[in-house]
Amino acid sequence: MNLQKAIEPQNNRQVLILCPCSAESPEQLQSLAKSILDLKPDLVRAGVWKPRTRPGQFQGKGEPALEWLTDLKQEFGLKVCTEVANPKHVELCLKAGIDVLWIGARTTVNPFYVQEIAEVLRGTDIPILVKNPMNPDLALWQGAIERFYAVGIQRLAAIHRGFSFYGNSIYRNVPRWQIPIELKRQWPEIQLLADISHISGHPENHLEIAQIAIDLHYDGLMIEVHPDPQNALSDADQQVTPEFLKEGILNKLIYRKHKTENQIFNQQIENIRSKIDGLDQQILKILSERMALARQIGIEKNKESISIFQPDRWNQIVGQMLDMAKEYSLSEEFIFSLIEAIHIESIHHQSETMNRKHR
Ligand code: PEP
Ligand code: MN
Repeated sequence: MNLQKAIEPQNNRQVLILCPCSAESPEQLQSLAKSILDLKPDLVRAGVWKPRTRPGQFQGKGEPALEWLTDLKQEFGLKVCTEVANPKHVELCLKAGIDVLWIGARTTVNPFYVQEIAEVLRGTDIPILVKNPMNPDLALWQGAIERFYAVGIQRLAAIHRGFSFYGNSIYRNVPRWQIPIELKRQWPEIQLLADISHISGHPENHLEIAQIAIDLHYDGLMIEVHPDPQNALSDADQQVTPEFLKEGILNKLIYRKHKTENQIFNQQIENIRSKIDGLDQQILKILSERMALARQIGIEKNKESISIFQPDRWNQIVGQMLDMAKEYSLSEEFIFSLIEAIHIESIHHQSETMNRKHR
């Protein structure tokens, strides 16, 4: 793919996309625009049609709000973007002169919707920002980007907004950083932006998420800002005031260099990395020994016709490992995922040993 930058950042810095979750009134947008003008945002965002999880919630102000956005172009010289979820939205945005469109997580998830939207964009060159799908599926995210590329859109960016999950987490949408990292590994030329508001869900976690995104070399940030977050018509819990945006987030971010010419430092890092490589080799060797033992158990279980999965034994392993996690200062979340992955691999090895003769 020959991707171009969707957004050319001002002064060669990070892309900054600001403004509210939803366009609520012309006054709300005007007041926000004034208070963030000094930050020189590359793009102003506001949802006009809102995809809500449950019916009966605020659905967005619809078509009339497009003009409120385009007024910001004339008045403040800002570029504006909004979410489109169907071909009609696209037509209205193109007619109104919206500069950039974004595809929401609930749309990226469905190839039919994405294809329909892509078809009406054929022949245009408006930049498109594609949010990750709700579910942690890298191929689906890439597929949506490819559908836009296939109709001739080259200015494409990916927005990481986290992934849906069931259960407890400090995040509104779990980040699963490994997915955008893998996207960037496969497509280094794609602009990758972090929508920290939808990942974090609460202002107290915004800074941490934004800092991680910067440390992972993201190309920019999208942040929801509202003049009066508590009374916002959508996503009230995660929107921040312009003051908090500046003092609580942007001014606190640390921009670190990617590389250095300092030879002493580079040598030190090299030494530590070679120790890490040595440990990684040992981990693999130990894992392979563990799998050999799993196969031995498979042979014995087969003789007695005992089933592979033993819930009591699994509970015992999880308990032991979680206790040890504390002792070694490793997070329970990490150790649980690790032992789960090892357990699944052990089951595969046992299953191969036990079921080989039936194949
Ligand atoms: C939004 O950006 O306000 C929005 C609805 O986003 P998402 O598609 O990521 O939920
Ligand atoms: Mn929102």
